[in-house]
Amino acid sequence: MQESHYGDEPRHVVIIGGGPAGLMAAETLAGAGVAVDLYDAMPSVGRKFLLAGRGGLNLTHAEPSDRFLARYGSRQQQMAPLLAGFDADALRAWSHGLGVDTFVGTSGRVFPTEMKAAPLLRAWLHRLRASGVRFHMRHRWLGWQDGALRFATPDGEIRVRANATLLALGGASWKRLGSDGAWLPWLRKAGVEVAPLLPANCGFDVCWSTHFRERFAGQPVKTVTAACVLPDGTTLTRPGEFVITGSGVEGSLIYALSAPLRDAVMAEGSVLLRLDLAPGKGLERLTAELQHPRGSRSLASHLQSRAGVTGVKAGLLREVLDREQMTDMAQLAAAIKSLPLRLVAARPIDEAISSAGGVCFEALDASLMLRHLPGVFCAGEMLDWEAPTGGYLLTACMASGKSAAQGMLRWLAERRT
Ligand SMILES: Cc1cc2nc3c(=O)[nH]c(=O)nc-3n(C[C@H](O)[C@H](O)[C@H](O)COP(=O)(O)OP(=O)(O)OC[C@H]3O[C@@H](n4cnc5c(N)ncnc54)[C@H](O)[C@@H]3O)c2cc1C
Repeated sequence: MQESHYGDEPRHVVIIGGGPAGLMAAETLAGAGVAVDLYDAMPSVGRKFLLAGRGGLNLTHAEPSDRFLARYGSRQQQMAPLLAGFDADALRAWSHGLGVDTFVGTSGRVFPTEMKAAPLLRAWLHRLRASGVRFHMRHRWLGWQDGALRFATPDGEIRVRANATLLALGGASWKRLGSDGAWLPWLRKAGVEVAPLLPANCGFDVCWSTHFRERFAGQPVKTVTAACVLPDGTTLTRPGEFVITGSGVEGSLIYALSAPLRDAVMAEGSVLLRLDLAPGKGLERLTAELQHPRGSRSLASHLQSRAGVTGVKAGLLREVLDREQMTDMAQLAAAIKSLPLRLVAARPIDEAISSAGGVCFEALDASLMLRHLPGVFCAGEMLDWEAPTGGYLLTACMASGKSAAQGMLRWLAERRT
């Protein structure tokens, strides 16, 4: 069996995983004069990054840093030092440095001017190759044996020994793009504390009637407010829009609430999402409007003219309410303001935008090195944090890649003295 032994090269590292986290680490290390060999299971790197480009590539967010940090919820404390080293402004400057200008959208989200990932990735890889980073594609890491990294390659298995290794293997969504979470049991076996990988920014199943599904699947539900009750009894409310799917609901508004919804479904078996279908109108006014005599007009046209509720929104009311609730205007108005939609399951992790869970921060030291495996560092989505969509995912992946690389530089320096 072929064995590469980099252990004799004190200024050398191995990176496994060529997503944004691994590439950012490679850039930092190569920039410091370290020799970098980057291995990835796929025929090319950055496949999920490219897919993100299909949605416009929301690189980061322009909101104030305290609000930005709050997006990481219970992991704010752990994310703070990472983002202090590479924040939204740094990310934008990095993109500009690669010749890709950015702009701030109306919601504060930051995108490349062309709203594409390919030009950015192309320029990035060009710069990485020019700085000496060596890419080894179709090298699937299989864990360790006798301290060596095992890789399955088209030419059979090889072993690699390194002074310092970065694992930047991603989460477990969209397996066909490379990140499949296969690493989780290997790290657990090595004594590393790892939280189960769960879908994040995901859709949910709803038991639609056949009629509703056939009539409305694929339709957007625009400008509503959705609310769910958190475990501490407070209510989380978000405005936005979502999409009806054949199996339930998905889209930005659902993703924004998906962490508490997922946790509630896991704990209780199902959860109620409450929809305000007419967020611009108060309950009192809406009730008064609907109680106007409708004469010979149909309920559908009464709903449309008095409440502005039509199409898929009216369909949702008919799907959830019974005949009595539909014809009692006080009950109907109350339902328009707070329609209970029962979500019965999160969609599978493979369909999710990202995953929660992964390597626990408790298993890492401040430089993102595994306490149980000295010389092995971790970065990116495989760490146990989650955040909504809005550019928070890519920013955190790159920030952690940079931070882990700086930790590796310190580790290499300490070993030389
Ligand atoms: C549809 C979609 C749209 C998205 N849009 C956005 C967006 O607009 N903004 C945003 O901030 N985020 C977005 N994201 C999320 C973002 O793309 C990810 O959070 C990010 O790519 C994770 O980076 P990473 O480097 O940690 O992992 P990944 O990008 O998943 O890269 C991990 C790499 O590791 C490799 N790998 C895994 N296991 C092995 C192994 N055993 N051996 C060798 N190599 C291995 C994989 O092949 C892969 O190349 C989107 C995600 C999806 C699915």
